[in-house]
Amino acid sequence: MKAIVLKKTALIEERPLELMEIQRPEPGPKQILVKVLACGVCHTELDEIEGRLQAKLPIILGHEIVGRVDRLGSGATKFKVKDRVGIAWINSACGKCDFCRSNMENLCPEFRGTGCDADGGYAEYTIVSEEFAYLIPEQFLNSQAAPLLCAGAIGYRALKLTNLQDGQILGLFGFGASAHIVIQIVKHKHKNCKVFVFTRPGQVEHQNLAKQLGADWVGATGEMPPELLNAAIDFTPAWQPIVEALRTLQKGGRVVINAIRKEANDKENLLKLDYATHIWLEKEIKSVANITRSDVEEFLPLAAEIPIVPEVQEFPLEQANQALLLLKHGKIQGAGVLKIDAG
Ligand SMILES: [Zn+2]
Ligand SMILES: [Zn+2]
Repeated sequence: MKAIVLKKTALIEERPLELMEIQRPEPGPKQILVKVLACGVCHTELDEIEGRLQAKLPIILGHEIVGRVDRLGSGATKFKVKDRVGIAWINSACGKCDFCRSNMENLCPEFRGTGCDADGGYAEYTIVSEEFAYLIPEQFLNSQAAPLLCAGAIGYRALKLTNLQDGQILGLFGFGASAHIVIQIVKHKHKNCKVFVFTRPGQVEHQNLAKQLGADWVGATGEMPPELLNAAIDFTPAWQPIVEALRTLQKGGRVVINAIRKEANDKENLLKLDYATHIWLEKEIKSVANITRSDVEEFLPLAAEIPIVPEVQEFPLEQANQALLLLKHGKIQGAGVLKIDAG
């Protein structure tokens, strides 16, 4: 099969992903072989490629996988051949530890990430344990469904962690794949909430998309919004938005950081944290780590009910380097998706 393989870490500008012909994997007991139709591209992959997050090497990246069940491993009964399924970042967890037993399998010490600890979806086929795959609601096109599996589901988790109540004000810092889905959830679930969107200065296309999706105010990170935020989610790879989110936060508010790693190039911004301005008055900071199966299982039907229509920009599998390069520079509108088979 064709696969895009990362053999060693490098800056994405060096185009380190290689197109290769490799052996198709065989499904083991309770696993399914999935023919990949589409796979989203995600900032986490940039972290893996550039070495901020350690992946097994060589690795097939990709954890927003939509595909068709091609073959069942022995004892696999959850799906039928031809079912359209999704695979998300959570590839496995131990199922036995205290975290796993209290719906926090995202924090399991044996947590394994798809496309990080196990091969993912930048390929024509992939395998996964049937317990870590989900039926995709009928109404979504393959490319639209892909970003729901990470950008959507983790955005949903981040939103839950904000404890946002109806009538409050939510700030979104960065307006890419995840934020453009979160705004649609908020506008559906909390009719009286206002959403303020902050982007890099001059990201006019992102700002226009935010307005189209109902943002109540749009500005550049660093600007003062018309009212203080009760909660904020930071979707960016930088530090400055966290400092800004804390500065523009209402008393008792919470900032949720949705990133596995932060890029180091603006670390000096953290030194600007001033206790009285940014932290005092019971402001909180919380990060989002990984995802549970129940996040995905709750979010997919909600996405279908709203319905969320992700804005996607498609690329052929061969252009994975290019897609990630554009993602790094904030040039993808909505979510980037590799279209692998029309299936
Ligand atoms: Zn992701
Ligand atoms: Zn566990």
